[in-house]
Amino acid sequence: MNIYLDNAATTKPCEAAMSAVFDSMLENYGNPSSLHKIGLNAENDINEARKAVAAALVCDPKLLTFTSGATEANNTVIFGAAKKYGRRRKKIVVSGIEHPSVAEPIKILEETGDYTVVRVMPDRSGAIDAEDFIKAVDDDTFLVSCMLVNNETGAINPVKKIFSYVKRTFPECITHCDAVQGFMKIPIKSADLMADAIVVSAHKVYALKGVGALFVKNGIRIPPLIYGGGQENRFRSGTEAVPLITGFGAAVRYLMPTMKTAYSNAEIICNYLVKSLSKLNFVKINSNLENHSPYILNFSVEGIRSEIMLHFLESKDIYVSSGSACSKGGHSSVLTAMGIPDKIADSAIRVSISRGTTEGDINALVNALREGYETLAKR
Ligand code: PMP
Repeated sequence: MNIYLDNAATTKPCEAAMSAVFDSMLENYGNPSSLHKIGLNAENDINEARKAVAAALVCDPKLLTFTSGATEANNTVIFGAAKKYGRRRKKIVVSGIEHPSVAEPIKILEETGDYTVVRVMPDRSGAIDAEDFIKAVDDDTFLVSCMLVNNETGAINPVKKIFSYVKRTFPECITHCDAVQGFMKIPIKSADLMADAIVVSAHKVYALKGVGALFVKNGIRIPPLIYGGGQENRFRSGTEAVPLITGFGAAVRYLMPTMKTAYSNAEIICNYLVKSLSKLNFVKINSNLENHSPYILNFSVEGIRSEIMLHFLESKDIYVSSGSACSKGGHSSVLTAMGIPDKIADSAIRVSISRGTTEGDINALVNALREGYETLAKR
């Protein structure tokens, strides 16, 4: 049986999502823009999903837009903010540990030569120091971007503290949070976070790939990235991915009531993993265990390159990641930024657990790591 421990890369869709997707395709296959009943039913499905995701972010459903995923939503915010708010002010302050869907569009803006970018590096814990970030923001800054939970280490950033300061001191500066790895795991209240824009993705929360949502605060005017038929309140053109959106809503509705219990269970499993790993003297934990999402743990296996151990574990039907799936085995800039030497960063493994992960799964992982080390270290 597969032991899937790569849930930060993507999750297996839950039954609730799958059956909602199937029903949507079977019954409400109309175009939500059509005026007849089958179209209206599809539109209704979208609106129900919007209410569910809005309830999870504690925001008005009207402020949520469905996109093709978090990548599109992050691009929309960054390029849109530059277009609208980056005329007079030219500076972007961003954490140095963002996902490529934030880091790359910002790099593209920087390469135009029209903008200055300040990247705030994490401390040794892997999290951003709020004071460091705040110091970098000034009245030339039009965009600040800081992710909630880092996808490689699970470090939780002090986003609320940073954004509260920014909005108090520079109210016209846009605050943007990629909340993908925190959504449906830790409570996120849009107003509390002081974010003008929040981005989430469906496939990290037991729904399907290819859909995400973007919250934009009332009064913030970000122009669209995609123009066309004017769907999604003219903010995101293109016929809506009704089944995917419906599945997203169903997954969120299913997860919502048990978020707290799931978090406590994740803590128990993560603590068990840490305790079990502490018995392996060839393992070094890279994640900082204070102020950390229990859903993600990053550690290194002395002397064995990530990919080699990953494939050994795969031969035992255990699936993990080498750092971040999106960096496809490339060097982890996050671990480097934390001051972790290259040799250790090169042997990093990321375990990301799901709601269904058991102590038995952890035992199997730890046994396989021991066997893997004994086998591979001899080579
Ligand atoms: N941000 C973070 C923190 C992520 O982990 C991911 C997924 N790897 C994304 C953005 C991109 O999400 P999507 O696949 O929905 O485009």
